[in-house]
Amino acid sequence: MDELDQSWFPMAACRDTDVTIFFRDSTSDEAKAICAECAVEEECLNYAVDTVSQLGVFGRMDAKEREKEFGVHPIRVRFVVN
Ligand code: SF4
Repeated sequence: MDELDQSWFPMAACRDTDVTIFFRDSTSDEAKAICAECAVEEECLNYAVDTVSQLGVFGRMDAKEREKEFGVHPIRVRFVVN
């Protein structure tokens, strides 16, 4: 995999927020409101798609929305119990 561009990280509107709100369904609207004011929303969404992020809000989209829009299927980890 090519090295991913992370130069936009310092411009993230969520940088100084409680990022846990981006990983809870109950607060996804709050997270998306922060994304709406973010200067690097497009870069962030591309990053999430490129890295097949399975959780969280990135670029104002949650994982289900990314899967629907881009066909990015979450990698499912299975534990086999003998
Ligand atoms: S688009 Fe949202 S999740 Fe992405 S860097 Fe901006 S505020 Fe953070």
